[in-house]
Parts: sequence; structure tokens; C-alpha cells
Amino acid sequence: MHDIHFHTNLSSCAKRESTLKVMLRHLQEAGVTTAGVANHLWDSKVPGASGWYAPQNVEHVLSVKKEYASLSDEERCGIKLYFGCETEYLGQGRVALKPGSAELFDYVLVPAHHFHMKNFVRPAELEEASAVGKLMLARFTECCNISFVFGIAHPFMVAGYPGRIDEILSTISDSAFRSVFSYAAEKDKSVELNICMLYQDTKNDPAGFPVEYGRIFTIARECGCKFHLGSDAHDPARLAPERFTKALNFAQKCGILFPENPFGSK
Ligand SMILES: [Zn+2]
Ligand SMILES: [Zn+2]
Repeated sequence: MHDIHFHTNLSSCAKRESTLKVMLRHLQEAGVTTAGVANHLWDSKVPGASGWYAPQNVEHVLSVKKEYASLSDEERCGIKLYFGCETEYLGQGRVALKPGSAELFDYVLVPAHHFHMKNFVRPAELEEASAVGKLMLARFTECCNISFVFGIAHPFMVAGYPGRIDEILSTISDSAFRSVFSYAAEKDKSVELNICMLYQDTKNDPAGFPVEYGRIFTIARECGCKFHLGSDAHDPARLAPERFTKALNFAQKCGILFPENPFGSK
């Protein structure tokens, strides 16, 4: 099993105890053999960082390699580790990473929908459900156009609209989803099944899976998308084995089969 979206305490929003060493141990306990660390990143060469993003630059995020180098074989837990990042996307092609800097990472994840960052990632006044849905579709498509991006982090995770996840997602038709996921497949972008999405305040089916995400990921699979799994853990508790089990069961329900290693033999 893999998990190519976890954070360490290099991300300001992660718990301080989330060192690489601690996270690797918990990943191993969950049965993960291929992992990718993807901390939040804003490239200093790109103007416009928020105060929160500014210190989390390329040098800062890449310092996890030094942390890894200091670990013993035992502390590395036999896990194949890739060094990635989760950058930011603001719309209109504005991505928080330069192509030259992207080359320094094994892979780049881009979140299309960090809409909790009001007046930065999305306009503060954007409230009407179908308008939010439309912007989500547009941003997803735009992210597929970023050539150096490997995958889209937590696609269609509704952030910044508490209690309104189903209301917003239900405004997006099957055919609209079909169109954007077909485009992702065409552009060879990996669609993330983000474990946190399964634990949100949504309408669930009798098996305990979110109804809307079941619809969305089944459509993505039918469109021929490739997928990866991401815990998006910011602390060790989010790497609990039962969370991975739930994600694998959800994937199975949607007909999704994960590769052992999303990067192939690289
Ligand atoms: Zn994110
Ligand atoms: Zn993340």
C-alpha cells in the first residue's frame, strides 16, 4: 500500500510531534510500503505568498531530505520514500511553484480547492452553492493544465463551507464531473483519494461512505483516471490503520484499484 500525501512538522499546520521519524513509524504500522512526503509549499520565486505560506518555501520543504539522511535504516522502516510537495493554486494559471523549482521534487501535488483561504484562493463573497461548484470545476480543469503536476490533491473536497458539502457537490451534474475527469485522464493527472474526505460531515450510505464522494470517484474511475491514495495526515493519529482500511473499502466500492507504487518503478 502507498500514501503519497502526508505532512511532517515542516508544515506550519501540522502537529509539532509529527517528525519524519514518527510519521514513518506510523506509516509502517499501517502497512504502507511506498510513501511520499508532501508538505505545504510556496516557492519564494513566485510573488504573492500569504504570511502563512512565505516561510514554507522550497528550501524549507526540501530540508526533509536532511532529516531523512539523519535516520538509521531501522528508523526508515523499510519504506520507499519519495520527496514531493503540496503547492498552491490561486486560479488564472497562478501556481505557487516555478517549473525550475518543481524539478527539485520527485513529484508535485496541487490542491485545486483550498477554499478555506478566503480572499486568497477564492473570493470571500463566493457563497452561492452552484457558483462554488462551478469554480471548483474550473479550478480542477486548470490544475490539469499545469505540466509539472503529478496529481490533484483532495479533488472536490469542500473546504471553507462548513455544513454545506452535500449542498455544494450536489449542484455539480454527473456530466460535468465526467467532462473534467475525462480531461484529467487525457492529461495523465493522478486523482487523489484523500482519506480525510471520508470523515467529513456528509450524508453517508448504509456502509458509512459519503454518498457524493461515492458518485464522484465512481465517475472518475469510469473516465479512466489514474488514482493515488493520500492520508493527508498532519499528525500520527491520522495514520491509524483503520483509516486506511476504510479508504481501501471505499475505493473497492467505487471500483478503484490502486497501483502498489503510483510512480511505477521510478
Ligand atoms: Zn491540501
Ligand atoms: Zn495536505
